[in-house]
Amino acid sequence: MNLNLTQEQRLIRDMARDFAKNELAPRALAWDLDASFPEDQIRQMAELGLMGVNVPESLGGAEAGPEALSMAITEIAKGCASCAVTMSVTNMVGEVIAKFGTDEQKRAYCPKITSGEYLAGAFCLSEAGAGSDPGSMKTTAVKRGDRWILSGEKMWITSGAYAGVHVVWARTGGKGTKGISCFLVEAGTEGMSTGKKEDKMGLRASNTVPVLFEDCAVPESALLGEVDKGFAIAMMALDGGRIGIASQALGIGLAARDEAVSYAKERVQFKRPIADFQGIQWMLADNETELCAARALTLRAAWLKGKGRPFSYEASMAKTFASEAAGRVCDNALQIHGGYGYVKEYPIERHYRDVRVTRIYEGTNQIQRLVIARHLLEGL
Ligand SMILES: Cc1cc2nc3c(=O)[nH]c(=O)nc-3n(C[C@H](O)[C@H](O)[C@H](O)COP(=O)(O)OP(=O)(O)OC[C@H]3O[C@@H](n4cnc5c(N)ncnc54)[C@H](O)[C@@H]3O)c2cc1C
Repeated sequence: MNLNLTQEQRLIRDMARDFAKNELAPRALAWDLDASFPEDQIRQMAELGLMGVNVPESLGGAEAGPEALSMAITEIAKGCASCAVTMSVTNMVGEVIAKFGTDEQKRAYCPKITSGEYLAGAFCLSEAGAGSDPGSMKTTAVKRGDRWILSGEKMWITSGAYAGVHVVWARTGGKGTKGISCFLVEAGTEGMSTGKKEDKMGLRASNTVPVLFEDCAVPESALLGEVDKGFAIAMMALDGGRIGIASQALGIGLAARDEAVSYAKERVQFKRPIADFQGIQWMLADNETELCAARALTLRAAWLKGKGRPFSYEASMAKTFASEAAGRVCDNALQIHGGYGYVKEYPIERHYRDVRVTRIYEGTNQIQRLVIARHLLEGL
């Protein structure tokens, strides 16, 4: 892996860093408190090219590759973890359409996602009874004439109420993971609606809603890929998405690290800054070491993806390690803040809540460990 950044990668990373520092970080607490979706800033992120970092230029993307995308998500997460998940999922939707769509589908949706004409894209896989086991989904799509009729209920859909296009998985036949197809459903399609926004512990400025389909008719041209072969599309998209979540976790961890370092230098007890105490220094050192390891695993998975090499198990390792490392870093950082870490006046309280879900979504870390073990047991 080449650790020297290209000029383009550096430019994208620095631009995301500046935007996060100036536009997101100062407002993140307010968005968290009232659980509001930062529409203006999300649109600005699209204008900066952050909603299609790895989408081809011909479709309006930056075509800057998975490493640039990973670094940009990390920088955005330092300022606002909620904006980072909106960005990660929207990029994933743009990439999946760019990879599996027909020319017509690519032209219809990718430029709208990358330009911000669509505020976001949504990835509708999970259901109330089908989370780790999406093969047990109950949403159906039945062919009637030249239309597909979708019926069912998706749950936990990031940006569901704001997305211009939803990638939706539904059962078209067979059992388990066979007989699942994938559809592109535009917001406002008759028969599609969104339910009550989830009142979450963290990532409160991201939108998470159920998406409901009641006899929702879409044209044949809404099918993404082949009939009954949609499950593989979901799995491939999630491999890339996991690099996004690893990158997000890393960003939250880095923000917590920085908060801990500056607090430790300022806070005086026993007439000395607490940074002078070895007990504090060891926590700071552990934080730094874990984040460097998380960054290396995450960029390695992104690099493999960019080279067109298999990266599924590397993405699972990156997601597992980065999310757990960032959780430990946030915990240490909160401890370093003492009682002040437990109140909203200090950002560490939000980082501690925001980071928790990175061990759960886009496949829980238990599921990631199954993927990693399967690669080991079935041969690398
Ligand atoms: C904020 C948020 C945003 C989300 N955004 C989206 C989205 O945009 N699109 C989308 O489709 N989904 C989304 N999800 C859903 C998310 O991907 C699921 O929550 C996740 O896959 C876990 O499913 P579940 O919650 O049903 O848990 P379950 O599958 O019920 O798991 C419960 C527990 O059992 C464990 N478990 C399950 N199976 C096994 C096994 N075989 N071996 C060991 N342990 C196991 C799990 O690890 C977990 O600890 C989101 C979730 C959240 C919280």
